[in-house]
Amino acid sequence: MEAVLVTGGAGFIGSHFVKRLLRTDEVAHVTVLDALTYAGHLENLGTAFFSPKLTFVEGNILDAQLVDDLVDRSTAVVHFAAESHVDRSLINAGGFLATNVLGTQTLLDAAMRHRIEKFVHVSTDEVYGPQVTGCAREEDPLRPTVPYAASKAASDLVALSYHHTYGVPVCVTRSSNNYGPGQHPEKIIPLFVTRLLQGDPVTLHGDGGHVRNWLHVEDNCQGLERILFDGQPGEIYNLGAGTELTNRELTDMLLILCGAGPEAVTYIEDRTANDRRYAMDCTKAMGMGYRPSRPLSDGLAETVEWYRANPNRWAPLLRNPHAPTPTVTLAPA
Ligand code: NAD
Repeated sequence: MEAVLVTGGAGFIGSHFVKRLLRTDEVAHVTVLDALTYAGHLENLGTAFFSPKLTFVEGNILDAQLVDDLVDRSTAVVHFAAESHVDRSLINAGGFLATNVLGTQTLLDAAMRHRIEKFVHVSTDEVYGPQVTGCAREEDPLRPTVPYAASKAASDLVALSYHHTYGVPVCVTRSSNNYGPGQHPEKIIPLFVTRLLQGDPVTLHGDGGHVRNWLHVEDNCQGLERILFDGQPGEIYNLGAGTELTNRELTDMLLILCGAGPEAVTYIEDRTANDRRYAMDCTKAMGMGYRPSRPLSDGLAETVEWYRANPNRWAPLLRNPHAPTPTVTLAPA
């Protein structure tokens, strides 16, 4: 993997992955393509931004000419760029379909034209839809219930079709909910942590009994790196951590870590199509050496500490959720 193109590398997971790749001897150069939407921040890359191994390109994955130029100069693509927030997809499905489906197709068209050793398409457990019992396996049917999940499911199928039709060496990864330092405060863990740290209440949907699987972002990146190097083209890999808990249980852990009491929690009407439970079987990735190692209690404690120590990174985003990059000065180490 001489030269890896990472789309969405200024976002939450992508930036952790880029920092990891830059420490990997097997990778000589990383190019990040990111449109710096409300969710993308150069600060997420920290001092990695100044690495001589990194080139940052501000641009859109829908820009076919730009994408073609960058893919031409790359030997592998890891594709994170997406509209990623379910609630936003309920009011702007079109934007999600454009970026997540057509943007993916633009990248795949370029990968088809140039010699690419691996194309890792980063997807989500939400494509399987709710699991009443048991755990979703890679070959299970897709039953997405919200526009975000439907757009990811569509892009997964388009990506796999480019493998079957044109031989593009695509691997699809499906991760469970990620958490960790630097996540946008619109997502449940940072939303609750930042509110609790400010002494504000938090709201749980319905009875708070929705079950999610929480995966530390570094564990996800470990799995993604493994798939980048060793994944078989045409294959799908589930990446989870097996830490299943209800939103109520998660909130109880956050209350303790943030020093808040149960009176900080209120319950509101459930949202539309709020899937009751996600769960995945990750045997296949485990068979390739994928080992999520961070206990949730440790990962959450570290995450809360990060938000406590870095209010400059999230407070501007809370005041204006659409604010672009917060005004933090980037300086080399
Ligand atoms: P994020 O919203 O934090 O980051 C998305 C990044 O993509 C941002 O930097 C944004 O600027 C960029 N982007 C958006 N539209 C773009 C476009 N048209 N052109 C170029 N760049 C664009 O997302 P995340 O949470 O880091 O998720 C990354 C990927 O992982 C997504 O594909 C998401 O579906 C998937 N995923 C996320 C989770 C999770 O829990 N966060 C779980 C499973 C899978």
